[in-house]
Parts: sequence; structure tokens; C-alpha cells
Amino acid sequence: MSAPFPWQTVPWEVLCRMREQERLGHAWLLSGRAGIGKSTFAHHFAQLALCEEPLAIRAACGHCRSCSLFLAGNHPDLRIVRPIEEANSISIDQIRALSGFFALKSHYGKAKIALLEPVDVLTRGAANAVLKQLEEPPELGLFLLVANHLERLPATVRSRCQRLALDNIDPEVALHWLETQTRDVTQVELRAMLRLHRQAPLAALEAMKEGKGDVLDLLESQMVNVAAGRVHAVQAAEACRDIVPLELADMMLNYVHRVALARYGLEPGNHDATGDPIDARVENLARQLQTGALCQFIEAAIEVKNQAGPTANFRQADLIDILWSSWMRASRPATRRQQVSKR
Ligand SMILES: [Zn+2]
Repeated sequence: MSAPFPWQTVPWEVLCRMREQERLGHAWLLSGRAGIGKSTFAHHFAQLALCEEPLAIRAACGHCRSCSLFLAGNHPDLRIVRPIEEANSISIDQIRALSGFFALKSHYGKAKIALLEPVDVLTRGAANAVLKQLEEPPELGLFLLVANHLERLPATVRSRCQRLALDNIDPEVALHWLETQTRDVTQVELRAMLRLHRQAPLAALEAMKEGKGDVLDLLESQMVNVAAGRVHAVQAAEACRDIVPLELADMMLNYVHRVALARYGLEPGNHDATGDPIDARVENLARQLQTGALCQFIEAAIEVKNQAGPTANFRQADLIDILWSSWMRASRPATRRQQVSKR
């Protein structure tokens, strides 16, 4: 077994077995949230499918002609299509160009692979062009479509592909891997990072590398910015898409709790029950906000926690929206009033 990441062994086996049984077909849709290694999975599989001397452990050899070209980034039987930077979408021209690519015979008699990543940013014209190519599959052609947001892809395209969901990740496997990638980070912290990033190991690792390990600090800045009218609830919610609603509600409640304590007499530098300092930002908010508004937010956040359980009726994204719009309602009117009275 040789999946690129330890949490991908099952889907890797599925795809490899289909190929060995010559049931691979011509289009696969690899889906799942961001940060779980879908792209790496697709690239590894493309290399394996093109390799001239694949290993028995279902891995590319890494040194045949084909692998050398692949690793150098110029294999003639592989075309990678990514969004044009300025447009942030894949255009119809990019898809049409694939016809020319597929019209040429395979250089090494193996597959001819088009890897689209991510495929959920196709323009409408591009989606139709993809559909046309999927309806008339080229000889030896293989489409590998990587999708973060399956729902953004037209149903007609989805239905023409075999699907492989990559987002079923064992938290323990993810944790163990993350431990091998980091130093001086406790298991508790790693677990928290994984939860915050919906068990997406690569997203958690990237956040830590970028120094965004301190999610709390980031969240608190957002809360202050929303209260000050610098950031809209919609923007704040978007920035928190990867945070589990239950965790988000807890963190926001903890912050509001500190604001409430500050309002009732704790001096800056004092520590509340959680051990976090009451800093100047908390002090400012405490002065701005009204008790009634704080209570309203607390009620809304507790309601979200009730809804966020395993039998949740709401979508995660909706719960995050509710949290931020509640915070905006609770925190802004007082801010505006204060600004007006200052004049
Ligand atoms: Zn090889």
C-alpha cells in the first residue's frame, strides 16, 4: 500500500484496484474539504498510472522515463489545468485546449491524463466544454477532477464521473501524522488544531507554520473588528468556515464572558477563570457593550451549541453565520450610539 498520506489508504486502494481490474473508466471526481491532500492524492495517482515500472506496493517507481518526465513537470501525457490567477476560474479556452492534447496519441502507450484542480471554479462555458469531453471520452483519456466544493459543480458534470470522497479521516491517524510533522507541540494543542480545522491535517499544519496556531487571538481580533464596524459579520463568518461551530461558540462565549467580567470591575491585568488576561481590547469592548446585548449574544450562542450536536438539523455554515450575525447585532448598536454621542 502506498497512499500519499496515511489517512488515504482506503481510497487509494479503491482507485488502484479499479485500475488493476481495468474498471477505472475515464473520469474520477476526488472530493473533500480543503487541506486533506486531495491534490497530492491525484498527482500521485497520475504518476502511478503513467509509470512504466510500477512497484508491487501500488506506487510509481520514481526513476523510469515516465516518472522522470513527470517529476520534472513536463510529461507529455499529463495536462494540469488550474485557475487563471487574475480570474480565479478555469476558462472555456483552457478546457478547449484539452481537445488538442487528447487528439495526440499517448507517448508511452499509457493513459492521457487531464488533472483539473480545483474543478469547482469552472466558468459556465468551461463546465459545458468539460461535459462535452466527458460525453465523448478520448481513447486512453482519464480525467482527474479535484473538488473542494462538490455542490458548486453542475450536476450534469458530477453524474458523468465516478466519485471518490477523501474526507473520511480517522482523527487518530491525522493526529499521529501531525505529531511526526511538528516539534514541541503537545497532543492537546494538536488535537485542538485538528478540531478547529475539521480534521484536515494539511490545513492544520499550514496554519501552524504560518504562525496562525493561535486561533483564539485571530478570533478575538475578528470580534473586536466586527464590534467596531470594520468587518461585517459575513466576512467574519467566511474567515471561520473551517472552525467547528461548537468550538467557535465556546471560544466566542469565553471571550464574551471575559468582556462581562471586565464590565463588572476586573481591572486590566487581572485574570479571569480561564487564566486569560483582561487586556485593553476586552476593556474597550466592556465599555462599549450593553449588558442586555451581551445576554442576547450568550443566549444565541447557547442555542447554536444546542443545534450543533451530532443530530444537527442545521448546516455547519449556517450555524457559523448565526453566531456572527448575533455578535454583530449584540455589539454594534452600542458602538454606533457611542460614536454619535462623542460628536
Ligand atoms: Zn516509474
